[in-house]
Amino acid sequence: MGLDPETDTPRANPWAPVQYFSNTQAPRLPRGLAQPEGANVLLTQVNKLLDWGRSASLWPATFGLACCAIEMMSASASRWDISRFGAEVFRASPRQADLMIVAGRLSVKMAPVLRRIYDQMPEPKWVISMGACASCGGVFNNYAIIQGVDKIVPVDIYVPGCPPPPDMLLQGLTMLQEKIRDHIPNPPDPLAFAESRYLGSED
Ligand code: SF4
Repeated sequence: MGLDPETDTPRANPWAPVQYFSNTQAPRLPRGLAQPEGANVLLTQVNKLLDWGRSASLWPATFGLACCAIEMMSASASRWDISRFGAEVFRASPRQADLMIVAGRLSVKMAPVLRRIYDQMPEPKWVISMGACASCGGVFNNYAIIQGVDKIVPVDIYVPGCPPPPDMLLQGLTMLQEKIRDHIPNPPDPLAFAESRYLGSED
């Protein structure tokens, strides 16, 4: 760190604001960690460590339905840079993804596909409903559009807006990270509750 030439005292850590605060100013201080006084060890629980690791390495499935998907793509570009939150690895295979961002309106015809992709994602997994259309049908109050994807998959976070800009998606992502770190379980599965399997499929 070196000495401050003016006061001849150890210089303060110039990176402290960056290390402890994200761009949204959410505190990043480790939670659930305890440092015994005078010891250079950290104590925690295995599940807290796992939750922390999962929250910082969310891999979204590549899945866009409508205009909101353009904003989702922007979130991964350099200006908003979703990789700052460890979620830049958009996977083409649901088997390698643990986050589904439903970005756009979901048609009745597409619902079985969405559900199938969700079912193919390994546990633990989470869902973000991005935009008014995904959350409640938006302006498309008609027979062709599902009036809320939470009728098909359990939604953990709703991001409002039409479209929500990328920074709102990032806010939803950080809220999901908080939820994972606090070990808050997924909401009930709507199809399991209705004792259904794939909506609209034969099997
Ligand atoms: S919420 Fe708005 S931007 Fe998003 S899919 Fe619907 S109409 Fe498009």
